[in-house]
Amino acid sequence: MDTKAVRDRLLKRREELRQRATDASAEARHEADPLSADFAEQVTQRENDDVLGAISDSARTELQAVEGALRRLAAGRYGICAVCGEEIEPERLAAVPYTDRCRGCAENATARGVR
Ligand SMILES: [Zn+2]
Repeated sequence: MDTKAVRDRLLKRREELRQRATDASAEARHEADPLSADFAEQVTQRENDDVLGAISDSARTELQAVEGALRRLAAGRYGICAVCGEEIEPERLAAVPYTDRCRGCAENATARGVR
């Protein structure tokens, strides 16, 4: 596996997500902007949270997953399923580079209603 290419891709994705968080929190402070009024309200409710409080749950979840993948990459465990310990399918990693589960385990989790 070309771990350098994977790492570059994950780092780039992390930057995108962090930038989105920064943009979202900056936008949320513009309370006069009618488009972001609802969003600003949500953010105010959790103003003690860090900047990640301003992005959507899905973006935050993805950011955490990307950071987890970078840690696994550094530890030499990247591409190994966290549930069953088997190698994750290469085409799955290509589609979802930050995943920590093989297809079978991901489908089992979905079937049980767990992420
Ligand atoms: Zn698995």
